[in-house]
Order: sequence, then structure tokens, then C-alpha cells
Amino acid sequence: MSGPEKSAMRATGRCLCGAVAYQVHGPLRDVVNCHCRQCRRTHGHMAAYTSVRRADLHMTETRGLKWYQSSDAARRGFCQECGASLFWDSLDRDSIAVAAGSIDEPTGLKTIRHIFVADKGDYYEIDDGLERLPKGHGAS
Ligand SMILES: [Zn+2]
Repeated sequence: MSGPEKSAMRATGRCLCGAVAYQVHGPLRDVVNCHCRQCRRTHGHMAAYTSVRRADLHMTETRGLKWYQSSDAARRGFCQECGASLFWDSLDRDSIAVAAGSIDEPTGLKTIRHIFVADKGDYYEIDDGLERLPKGHGAS
């Protein structure tokens, strides 16, 4: 790294094994917890996502990166070595959702809302006082 790229770097992250790693060279949205069925199935529970501009996401290791077309509108990026779920990439947006748990700490982020609460699992409650939206994203 050198010059402007280094100074603009806001975050780094990786999967469990390191076969997928990235840097973020721009602002990160605060974290939104998604309770939809797809997120719960692929993450094992609700998914905590920040979001960054696609152009600000710089992959530094892609050896394990594989994409799964999870719907007509989006694909999910995961590590085929360790199974980590890392990215949700909606094809009609210029941003990409990055799993908050993959970001190196301190992240400087906070959780601001829950989405797709209408689809949440029946095995837990949401009682942290944060905004709850029945469906999708109030902000992306
Ligand atoms: Zn991995």
C-alpha cells in the first residue's frame, strides 16, 4: 500500500481461516441486523451487516471466495475453505453488505436497527430497544 490508499483505509476484515480478506477504503454504514430466512439459514442466525460502496471494497485475498446466487436480485459471498459468510451483494445497488463479524476490531461501528423482523425465528426475542422494521432496509 502507498499514498492515498493507505490514508483512506477505514477497516480490514477476513474470514475465519484467512482465505478471504479485504480492506475498506471508504465509509462504513452502521450495522443492521437482518432476520430474514435466507440470512438465518446461511449465517446460522440473524445476520449483522454493515455496508460499503462497492468501489471501496478492496479484496486482498480471494483464494477461498465463492459466490452463491441466493436470489434473482442478490448473491452471497462466502469462504469455501472455512464456510464463513461474508458478503451480500445486491446486483442493483452500488453498495455491498459486509458481515460485521468479519471486520477486525475496533470497528467503530454500532448496531442501529433490525430488519425483516416479520421473518425472524421463533426461538428468540428482539428486546434491545432498537428500531424494528417488518421488512427491508430503511437505509442501505
Ligand atoms: Zn476462510
